[in-house]
Amino acid sequence: MNTYWRKMFGWSKTRQVLWDECKLAYYYQYIGKWEGFPGDPKRERLQRLSKIKKFIFWKGELIHEVIRNQMALHSRNKPLLEDGARKYFIQQVEEIKQHPKTIITETVNGLTLSDDQFEAARSDGLKQLDNFFSIIWPDYRERRLLEYERLNSFQVRQTKVWVQVDLITQTDEEKTVITDWKTGDERWLDSNADEQMGVYILWAIDRFSVPAAQVSAELVFLRSGESHAIVKTQDQLEELKESIATRAKEMLAVQTETDFPPDPADRRCRECNFATICPEGKQRIPLLN
Ligand code: SF4
Repeated sequence: MNTYWRKMFGWSKTRQVLWDECKLAYYYQYIGKWEGFPGDPKRERLQRLSKIKKFIFWKGELIHEVIRNQMALHSRNKPLLEDGARKYFIQQVEEIKQHPKTIITETVNGLTLSDDQFEAARSDGLKQLDNFFSIIWPDYRERRLLEYERLNSFQVRQTKVWVQVDLITQTDEEKTVITDWKTGDERWLDSNADEQMGVYILWAIDRFSVPAAQVSAELVFLRSGESHAIVKTQDQLEELKESIATRAKEMLAVQTETDFPPDPADRRCRECNFATICPEGKQRIPLLN
């Protein structure tokens, strides 16, 4: 097993979710794609597969990209461009509809996305952008913008941790507010989202050198315009630090490829980036045989 991944290692919630779902998928995503030399066909294939996205995630990331572009304008004291944002979103959906195999996991795995699915993604995305401009942004535009969607790392008990927070603002009362845009339903408000926000709070305390009481965190659901505050006690934050350090240690304890058993399940494999290369995945998806 190559050692490059160890040099690059940093715990993240995304990494943990894949580790918990299927160790083999985790191996392909974070370790296998660095095996061999550049140009090696398997390595190149894994590199490509590691970048594709489930359709629903692709749509969510596109909405994030559109908002990130607007934040870039705002950070330069320029007005937001709602029409331009809508046009860009529509254009990107159309482009992927023409070439889905360049990026959408399901189509790489031999499934077909219908016109109705693209239309639903288009109208849902536009509704979420409408809500952003008309309902959500007015509450934020007067605040001081501290950062948006920057990849950052920090240390938790000697473990490097990666975070990328959607938006950090500061209120007139000097409160640091962490905002995470959610492009799914409120019913997806789960323990993963809750833990992710805890990690963001730890990062903000470290990054801005502020006490926990001065940091607030909120999930903002773009589809409804609703916000949910996430509150963490000092004890919960300490527990989270311990848990991150323990789980990172488990990830680093692996020695050989046999430490990454597959954990197949129909839906998981169908939506897995590596189903076309994984023996278990190929067996579970008839279209690939
Ligand atoms: S196809 Fe299934 S078993 Fe194979 S790596 Fe993906 S999730 Fe795991």
